Amino acid sequence: RRQPSRKGSTADMPHDLLGEIKRLEDLFSVDTAKLKAITEHFISELAKGLSKEGGSIPMNPTWCMSFPTGHEQGTFLALDMGGTNLRVCEIILPEEKGEFDIIQSKYRMPEELKTGTADELWGYVADCLQQFIEYHHEGEKLGNLPLGFTFSYPASQDYIDNGVLQRWTKGFDIDGVEGEDVVPQFEAALKERGVPIKLTALINDTTGTLIASNYTDDEMRVGCIFGTGCNAAYMEHAGEVPKLAHMNLPADQEIAINCEWGAFDNEHKILPRTPYDVIIDKDSPRPGQQTFEKMIAGLYLGEIFRLVLVDLHSQPHVQIFPNQDISALQKPYSLDASFLSDIENDPFENLQETHDSFDSKLGIKTTKPELELIRRLTELIGTRAARLSACGVAAICKKKGYTTAHVGADGSVFNKYPHFKARGAQALKEILDWDKDRDGKKLGRGRDPIEILPAEDGSGVGAALIAALTIKRVQQGHN
Ligand code: BGC
Ligand code: MG
Repeated sequence: RRQPSRKGSTADMPHDLLGEIKRLEDLFSVDTAKLKAITEHFISELAKGLSKEGGSIPMNPTWCMSFPTGHEQGTFLALDMGGTNLRVCEIILPEEKGEFDIIQSKYRMPEELKTGTADELWGYVADCLQQFIEYHHEGEKLGNLPLGFTFSYPASQDYIDNGVLQRWTKGFDIDGVEGEDVVPQFEAALKERGVPIKLTALINDTTGTLIASNYTDDEMRVGCIFGTGCNAAYMEHAGEVPKLAHMNLPADQEIAINCEWGAFDNEHKILPRTPYDVIIDKDSPRPGQQTFEKMIAGLYLGEIFRLVLVDLHSQPHVQIFPNQDISALQKPYSLDASFLSDIENDPFENLQETHDSFDSKLGIKTTKPELELIRRLTELIGTRAARLSACGVAAICKKKGYTTAHVGADGSVFNKYPHFKARGAQALKEILDWDKDRDGKKLGRGRDPIEILPAEDGSGVGAALIAALTIKRVQQGHN
């Protein structure tokens, strides 16, 4: 299936490359029946994660206990420590739901930090906060500004202001944090520098996305991130969470669950993994973890692509980049998802832009048939990611019995990867049988019953809202 803007041609393709395209299509395509089977298995794994025994999807209770009312107000700090950037915001929520004020500064997460020491990590985070405060509030006393800290890694929480890191994801590999409560480590770094901030809530980016999206659109039921990593959160009833039985919450008490669905199928029962996915996992800092995420998330898309090309080059019966120096291509993680985006976006019939970027970034001269294979490969990798993502969304909606809902999504892959939204919507349609008769009535054209839409800023506004909701809850005597 080609993009309408460009008609690829395989007519004059040499046999070896044509054969490889066919093989890659078989490897990377996920048909409707498989999508449905994955979704069904996903539903049972979501439930397993909520059980006392637990499963491989963590299904972490977040202690975020309600959607916002729209009356949350006040001034809040928000800190977002993601896989790529670090962002500090100050958010003023107005008395009535509406335009909120936000000022923010962005800092890069230096690559070395991700494999450095815990002290270096927290020191850097605290330094960024300090800089922000000195710049925006020189000489003021800020001891009372509540902070919502978006920590986008799996953490188990007994309270909303603590969180024990279950494991690093997204290529992070820092000793001394896994299995520990990250809040005292973070607060110690603040204290050392005399930064006058008190953490109110530790949140996941998906929970922030869920809450922020629901603030602006009350049909929003699920918050998703398709970015460097991939994950979702939704609102569950305590009665559906057997592992919280000891808390004696009312059965109809709402509690947001951070699924950590990146861990789906860590036991390799259902996902159609390719040999390339197996290598990604084996060579990652946490083999055996985040099986689903490693097939979908932005961190891995370029690496999957690179591994395929290196593999083809090494096969004696495939003539691809013959007699060329491919050493630049041989460097792990040298291509990121934007490299693939650019190829999928190449508007030229002869794939001129792709040709030029292979030349300039990798020192590889490409032929027309090679370019056709390259383009097809990006389509396959991007389409697989979108279609597998839809299985997670469908599983949550089916589990909750939502037949109509909005799903708020954020992240670089969702926002920037070409056709990701349309491919995801197409897969949802196939999984949920929307083209078929339903209750005897044909569904009209128009809008899909379940729509994945761009989310409101979760780690800014969402973090502020959750901090506000937490303060209200504490004032009402809950913890
Ligand atoms: C993390 C999640 C996070 C997701 C998106 C995953 O690697 O485990 O906590 O929500 O990335 O950022
Ligand atoms: Mg992020």
